[in-house]
Amino acid sequence: MAFRQTIAKEVACEGIALHAGTQVRMLLTPAPPGSGVVFIRQDLDGASVPARYDHVSETMLGTTLEFGRASVSVVEHLMAAVAGAGIDDLVIAVDGPEPPVLDGDALSFMELLDIAGVKASAAPRRALKVLRRVEVTHKDASAALVPSSSLQFAFEIDFASAAIGRQTFAFTFSPEDFRREIAPARTFGDIAQLEALKKMDRGHGASFLNTLAIDRDRVINADLMRFPNEFVRHKILDAVGDLALAGAPLVARFEGLRSGHALNNALLRGLFADPANFQWVTAAS
Ligand SMILES: [Zn+2]
Repeated sequence: MAFRQTIAKEVACEGIALHAGTQVRMLLTPAPPGSGVVFIRQDLDGASVPARYDHVSETMLGTTLEFGRASVSVVEHLMAAVAGAGIDDLVIAVDGPEPPVLDGDALSFMELLDIAGVKASAAPRRALKVLRRVEVTHKDASAALVPSSSLQFAFEIDFASAAIGRQTFAFTFSPEDFRREIAPARTFGDIAQLEALKKMDRGHGASFLNTLAIDRDRVINADLMRFPNEFVRHKILDAVGDLALAGAPLVARFEGLRSGHALNNALLRGLFADPANFQWVTAAS
């Protein structure tokens, strides 16, 4: 894992967009080392936006990237899969406002990346080593990056619904563990909020096939569940995707307490706000 990687060949898929509800075609293409992950809107004359934290414009119902005329929403599950697969450089072309949601997880994107295969370059991969604690808080939620010798995640959520309740999960990142423990965890939502969401012209693509639907104290489509504590695992999946917008792998421990896309992005902005917070390292150092 010491060298930057892209995919070995291009691969395409098609599916429904979570919020727009429209059918979207997505094409993943290999990219030269150092170019990072870039989204292209084929339906907007190829306008592009780099997948970086400083291009995040909206975090309310997913993470949205925006640059010039190009904006792409709900990038976090795909970005988690890209990071989980160890891909550094990639072009992601979509012909709509979001990547397809597929199964509401990261695993379906990883299976697509499996088809493409991974190709290493001769360019060394650099990582961002966190040197001192960076923390952001909002009301009763917080997110922190803490110095650590490896990439670790610890998360706690506490929902009023008995279907979720209090859940904690911790894991040390490896491609194998990410694929097994985190990538299959599906997105979830409150059925009572879905109508409000649709009035905001969002959530049109949410279905019982791609979203765990909470109705008061039960999960309506519980047959879809892959883990008893799937909700906290999905929150880690979101954090992996949001932190992938750092543009390089992190060497740090992430600690999330009821954190979401807004805090995850604020955390990266906090990290980069002071050069004393981090250091660039190569695999050899
Ligand atoms: Zn999510």
